[in-house]
Amino acid sequence: MTDAAAGPDWDLLIDNATRLDDATPVSIGIRAGQIEAVAPSLAGHTASRIDARGGLVTPSFVDPHFHIDKVLSRDLLGARGPEEALARAHEAKIHFTVADVEERACRALRLAAAHGIGRLHAQIDVDFATRLVSFEGVMRARDRFAGIVDVTLVAFPQEGIVADPEAPGLLREALSMGAAAVGGLPEVEASEEDQRTHVETILELAAAFDVPVEMHCDYLDRIELKTLEMLAEGTVAHGLQGRVVASHCNALSLYPDEEAARVIDKVLDADMAITVLPIANLQMLGGTARTPHNRGSSRVKELLDAGVNVAAGADNMYDIWYRFNRMDPVELAHMTVHSAGLRTDEEVREGFEMVTTRAARIIGAPAPAVAAGAPADLVVFEATSLVDILRRLPGRRIHLKNGRPVGGLEGSCWAAL
Ligand SMILES: [Zn+2]
Repeated sequence: MTDAAAGPDWDLLIDNATRLDDATPVSIGIRAGQIEAVAPSLAGHTASRIDARGGLVTPSFVDPHFHIDKVLSRDLLGARGPEEALARAHEAKIHFTVADVEERACRALRLAAAHGIGRLHAQIDVDFATRLVSFEGVMRARDRFAGIVDVTLVAFPQEGIVADPEAPGLLREALSMGAAAVGGLPEVEASEEDQRTHVETILELAAAFDVPVEMHCDYLDRIELKTLEMLAEGTVAHGLQGRVVASHCNALSLYPDEEAARVIDKVLDADMAITVLPIANLQMLGGTARTPHNRGSSRVKELLDAGVNVAAGADNMYDIWYRFNRMDPVELAHMTVHSAGLRTDEEVREGFEMVTTRAARIIGAPAPAVAAGAPADLVVFEATSLVDILRRLPGRRIHLKNGRPVGGLEGSCWAAL
């Protein structure tokens, strides 16, 4: 008990909480945005209190790859397949304005806050079509959501480097304006030589600005695409081991096993990590004439077994690429365990880590934890087990950022009997 004049012991006390890996219910004491204590019971005055009633408390979610500049723009132009989207994306974004990008990004961030996303690594097109318009719009949205969702920006040359000669200069400007990472998409180039130039240019920029790389590799499920291998070799050549993430990597799932194992060895040598985007890729890829072989999850199991860090991102929401998505990382984890064939309890747990702790590691964020000393960036679920969180989508939950409730879901359903 403290002196009343000194204020309460806790800003917030969460009682009857369950943590992953710990069957004993605990109280979580939060002060000044930090978890100060976790114990079977905590005494003292508290300014506010949440009774978790045995519900799981987890770190808040991290989306490591999301094209926030394009969200909710599908009415301008929607593509029937990925090739059309690649070819015509510039037609849609030529209409973007700073205010329009800001407004759409804020609508996405409200959904992110509601569903428990505490950090979002946003891909922003920087190219001849949108120049720095999208980047400025997302910067404004990022500033408005400070203290609710931490947004970091990846400057992404969607239209290429060789194919879009304006891109390198614009990327430099975006990096000078505070981009946290530089992106890439070598397969958009016209030849393998141009793809190599694209990869080289991005790695040089990353080294010059001392930022990590987050590059789209082999998005299309075409066996002839080899840009993941190209990036792994370039990463080692530039001494950028541990600073490079490749996303999508769908062609890897189509390579013969021997070739895939060889490429995964190169990914390991380069100390790279991989982000998969199963929601959008499951629906968008695989041609139109038959049921797709590709499941939109690269080779998640083989990568995890080899010791590569793998995370999952939401990618798109109602844009030229993809119609659906409501920014719920629980739905993303649910889709990931299905598309990647994660079946055992341990694998399901890994699927959940792919949208929490593994995703945090991929974007270079501090390791999130429900433990004393960690930031109080948490989600309090009504469900009491991981399986129930995934099974009872969307489920009730409260999202805390720096110990303050910033969003939540009030799931409900009814029946006559
Ligand atoms: Zn992407």
